[in-house]
Amino acid sequence: MYVYGSKDRLFINTTLGCRSRCSYCYLPSLDYELGASNLMIKDSDYVIGMVESRSDFIQGKKGTIISLGCYSECWDEPVRESTVALITYFLRKGNPVQFATKRYVACEDIEQVSKLISWRGQLSIFISSTTLTKWNSIERGTDSPDIRFRSFDLTKKTGVPVYLYIKPIIKSVTISDLNKYVDIVKNKDVSGVIIGSKFIMSNESNNNKLAPISNGKLKYSKKSKEEEYMYMTFSQKVLTFTESVQAIDYWRNYA
Ligand code: SF4
Repeated sequence: MYVYGSKDRLFINTTLGCRSRCSYCYLPSLDYELGASNLMIKDSDYVIGMVESRSDFIQGKKGTIISLGCYSECWDEPVRESTVALITYFLRKGNPVQFATKRYVACEDIEQVSKLISWRGQLSIFISSTTLTKWNSIERGTDSPDIRFRSFDLTKKTGVPVYLYIKPIIKSVTISDLNKYVDIVKNKDVSGVIIGSKFIMSNESNNNKLAPISNGKLKYSKKSKEEEYMYMTFSQKVLTFTESVQAIDYWRNYA
């Protein structure tokens, strides 16, 4: 599904599937391919047309949040140009725009679009990571954390907030890198941290709310003790949220 959501938040993809192969990725449970050798990429104008033809899209700062790439890696090299076109279009509309990625986001790719930002926090970037020491086996085909985390240099140069996005917390794995993550927050220009829950199939038993994507197929897993501990640790040091939209609401409502 290239466009999915509601008046509050629309998820937009110009491709479906991903060339990487993260072991915890939910895409296969939605029948999208991992390790895809050939991505079919839709023209950004086609996808924009799909958004504009919806009656629930609301323009402007308090309008629909535009989240790029829930069924794809929107900053992968073949997809990047169409992602930049979407960012350009929706920044001009005044809407909040966000994306999460496991790729390096270079300053020169953001510099031009950052000039279109009309309110602080309108564009926000989430650098996703669930493991540092086991990156090579768990997040196969992504940029290494070292390369990925160079994206935190963006904030000083462009004013775009860049968050450390730790989701999902993998049992016994993510927490084992906690001190290293804390060092990253200390030493890099990290605008905040998201500690997010895993999505599981909605037929698994718990009473948690449905995920904002997937048409009812996925829901949030129960928060683990490790997740709570990580949240508590970061919240004592830096702005910390459990969902990326809270970072947007922070900027558009309070900052
Ligand atoms: S980069 Fe994202 S979309 Fe691609 S396999 Fe990893 S988690 Fe899935």
